[in-house]
Amino acid sequence: MSHPPIAFDNTYARDLEGFHVPAQPAKVPAPSLLFFNHGLARELGLDFSGMDDQALAEMFSGNALPEGAEPIAQAYAGHQFGQFSPQLGDGRALLIGEVIDRHGQRRDIALKGSGRTPFSRRGDGKAAVGPMLREVLIGEAMQALGIPTTRALAVVATGEPVFRERALPGAVLTRVAASHLRVGTFQFFATHTTAEHVTKLADYTIARHFPELVGAENPYLALLGAVAERQAALIAQWMHVGFIHGVMNTDNMSLAGETIDYGPCAFLEAYRPRAVFSSIDEAGRYAYREQPRIARWNLARFAETLLPLLAPEEGQAITLATEVIDVFPDRYHQHWLAGLRTKLGLTNPSAEDAADAALGEDFLALLASEKVDFTLAWRRLADAAEGNEAPLRALFRDPTAQEEWLARWQTRRGAGADAACPPAARAAAMRRANPWLIPRNQRVEEALAAASDRDDLAPFESLLAALRHPFEERPEYAHFAEPATDDFMSGFQTFCGT
Ligand code: AMP
Ligand code: MG
Repeated sequence: MSHPPIAFDNTYARDLEGFHVPAQPAKVPAPSLLFFNHGLARELGLDFSGMDDQALAEMFSGNALPEGAEPIAQAYAGHQFGQFSPQLGDGRALLIGEVIDRHGQRRDIALKGSGRTPFSRRGDGKAAVGPMLREVLIGEAMQALGIPTTRALAVVATGEPVFRERALPGAVLTRVAASHLRVGTFQFFATHTTAEHVTKLADYTIARHFPELVGAENPYLALLGAVAERQAALIAQWMHVGFIHGVMNTDNMSLAGETIDYGPCAFLEAYRPRAVFSSIDEAGRYAYREQPRIARWNLARFAETLLPLLAPEEGQAITLATEVIDVFPDRYHQHWLAGLRTKLGLTNPSAEDAADAALGEDFLALLASEKVDFTLAWRRLADAAEGNEAPLRALFRDPTAQEEWLARWQTRRGAGADAACPPAARAAAMRRANPWLIPRNQRVEEALAAASDRDDLAPFESLLAALRHPFEERPEYAHFAEPATDDFMSGFQTFCGT
């Protein structure tokens, strides 16, 4: 490259020797740019103005890495569906470097689908167009919904097939993340190395993500608490938009608190707390309603890796860690309740917690009993807050089913400090919390099929444009906001895309 467009500062490669191995991306025969996130590039402070699409494709396929890139495969382990795999690691991904973004935040830039590494085991190290564009759509939707997430900077078609159940067009995704530190990263070093290494990793994690904990009385206990707090907030946000991650293995839980690894994820359409769409999650371990419980389980695995750092004596360390893990359900509940109140249009948080939680639970129970569309029901509640109850009622087969609930909700809205909120302001606030548009499963699948099977990116591009404005009702995007048909959903399954 004539000019280095990326000012890398690669702390993971430089400061954590022994935690990764160098590896080079595979060369690809015919890179072509399918997606480039210009907004994200600006946020990262990167200037690609001198490069055309072909040059970007060469760069973000891995064929011509930018100056200063130091590609490494990171080591990690993980519990997959409850079973411990002592060695996973970047089997088809490479961290190419870190940059400081416009907000002063350090961000990882990584390739996914860039070929085999020493961690590939029997895998080919590759990725297909469909799952990589899926990661773009869902990640950008999450971002627009205000949910912490890794993001896609680029997707490049490689011009070569990858072989899954059938031959599929190959692709490389460039992923931007606060970091790729996972629960599984700690598990790897707790399993294979000494407490000294785990301490080094913990110090790195604190310096990078929780600098306010430097100098805390027990920084590693504080780290556990801070990671748990971010997960509590994150999972509550997932639950409030009906997001099902689908593969909450410990290697897919980011210590930075971002949603990471969009494989078999999906959004609820009809409200079913037990919903699970992933073809490999036969037991429903990662079903919608299990997510808070699984987060706690994963955090307990994280806590185990920190035990030698928490106290000189193991019994004492276990007691300290257990206290943090045991308060997780309550911390989650507090985040969930705060989000629930916003969704319900309740502005006074000093009201009784148990009563507000029950009000929300009972609304959800109504949706469950008639399998009402989760997103539409919440959205139409905003209309109801302004006195227009008909659109909400129309979602129910038995329009009288919510009578009693609506009366209770109205009483609650009229009580105490809440009474002062004008209906239009309340409805507007609700519309900022209850999205009109989520990535509808049928529309996502259609867009990916067009791109992958017919080289037609138009449906992907228009869906992506729509998903960037989830809280605004725009007539031109109405078809993206429609629930999938029952027929579609009855057979709907998602796949890991590995
Ligand atoms: P994931 O299901 O994407 O979270 O991946 C779980 C583990 O499998 C990670 O260690 C990945 O690097 C590895 N993996 C997934 N797909 C492939 C592939 N096609 N080739 C090599 N490794 C893979
Ligand atoms: Mg993963």
